[in-house]
Amino acid sequence: ELLILLCISVSLVVEPKSDQKLSQAHAMVTAFISSRHHSGTTALIDAATGQSISFPALWRSVSSLATALSTRFSIRKGDVVLLLSPNSIYFPIASLAVLSLGAILTTTNPLNTPGEISKQITDSNPVLAFTTLTLIPKLSSFSFPVILLDSSSPKSSDSRITTSIDELLQTPPDPSIPHESISQDDPATLLYSSGTTGMSKGVISTHRSLISMVAIILNRFKLDEAAGIQTFICTVPMFHIYGLAAFATGLLASGSTVVILSKFEMGDMLSAINKYNATFLPLVPPILVAMLAVSKPLPLGPLRKMLSGGAPLGKEVIEGFKERYPMIEILQGYGLTESTAIGASTDSSEESRRYGTAGMLSPNTEAKIVDPDTGVSLPPNGVGELWLRGPYLMKGYFKNEEATKGTLDPEGWLKTGDLCYIDDDGYLFIVDRLKELIKYKGYQVAPAELEALLLTHPDITDAAVIPFPDKDVGQFPMAYIVRRPGSDLSDTTVMEFVAKQVAPYKRVRRVAFVQAIPKNPSGKILRKDLIKLATSKL
Ligand code: AMP
Repeated sequence: ELLILLCISVSLVVEPKSDQKLSQAHAMVTAFISSRHHSGTTALIDAATGQSISFPALWRSVSSLATALSTRFSIRKGDVVLLLSPNSIYFPIASLAVLSLGAILTTTNPLNTPGEISKQITDSNPVLAFTTLTLIPKLSSFSFPVILLDSSSPKSSDSRITTSIDELLQTPPDPSIPHESISQDDPATLLYSSGTTGMSKGVISTHRSLISMVAIILNRFKLDEAAGIQTFICTVPMFHIYGLAAFATGLLASGSTVVILSKFEMGDMLSAINKYNATFLPLVPPILVAMLAVSKPLPLGPLRKMLSGGAPLGKEVIEGFKERYPMIEILQGYGLTESTAIGASTDSSEESRRYGTAGMLSPNTEAKIVDPDTGVSLPPNGVGELWLRGPYLMKGYFKNEEATKGTLDPEGWLKTGDLCYIDDDGYLFIVDRLKELIKYKGYQVAPAELEALLLTHPDITDAAVIPFPDKDVGQFPMAYIVRRPGSDLSDTTVMEFVAKQVAPYKRVRRVAFVQAIPKNPSGKILRKDLIKLATSKL
């Protein structure tokens, strides 16, 4: 059995320094993050407006908001709070305030349709939401109170809008607000992921998951005091574990400055890099591809490191980028919502020697590669499913024991659904994805969700959705359709039917008609056969 143990110890004992402790920060992760001295440094900058917040002001804001959430909205340990917003300076503040009360944070992609968001709300049952004026119509079928993130004096007839975050931030922090003690095993976040199969499910990450994630970020990216203050650009969405882990929690513990863009736009990103002297840019592969597609060299100013994660990064892209921008190191991070933290990453020295690797395992991580057919562990260089074990793994899927059992084995291993190998020196290589998941620009698309939708069309008798490879976006959904006999349903009609009902990133962008969907004797779609068929002509 290949078992790799990295013995760098990450202490999970949390002892906030008393002078910096949030007055009511009994929740583990907030106490951990706030326990570092960074007074005098800027924590967050809004790239569009230039608005910034220092570390002392950040902790005071988190404290004020937590007090307001407790006294005005009676938010208590275990309550679920929804955050539906593009990236903003308020995203980390709201997240940390919720976590500091022991309440559970759930986030969702603002691009999702009201129907898609409703499903998540029905499942997670939040008692309160933070959102923006533009996004509030997406919550129209729910009656919980809403706090606006983007308006100091909410002018709307919507009776659910109770107040704005600006107003709540005026609340004096009150150390005597009611609290229950919170342990590392308590749930902290509920992000949604389809995992290895089926529909989107709530992934329960605990305070322990987040604390070990933060410790890993500090360790793997060498963000200790010796590294000095780094300035990061945040274009990665904070509703996703990548953005939430890095920007709304992890980097705040390092004393780094985070410059926040509400979304990726090349021009805005370049101006922010230069205006704020950014040194580090975490991104997803399609952004690197887009940067490389620009024929003129881009003004990347003081930028020295980029981190790619969330989806595979082609070797050609790394090599092309290295050639054009030799002064910039491209690091890779590999992880999944279910792992909360990065399970493996490269650092500068190994990256230059082994293009294509997702790096070495994170501290406190065990891994094995398992033959997906026999369940037998494989030796180095054997290709099989990666199983991970570490303190950061999810506790399980929310209210879904069956899916939890299928993903976490009784010994605590997480079955990642990724086909990988680990070489003789312990470097992880991701070869393919065994699971159903499609990743469009790093966003998750669950084939099962699109198949269920396609089957509601009266002219479709069967359907299968697979990932179709694409240089610019990584993958997009392609549908194989069995038409009702006599139907002349066209590919455009199928694509329009889906497009009307899903978020833009989930759209079916290619359709093929077949007589039957290939399935195994138990009725499972043979996706690999369809993927082979779809890509054979490429
Ligand atoms: P998510 O839960 O949305 O973060 O998706 C996790 C999945 O994205 C992983 O299981 C992988 O399939 C893929 N992924 C994440 N990071 C990488 C990476 N560095 N290289 C290849 N695939 C990745």
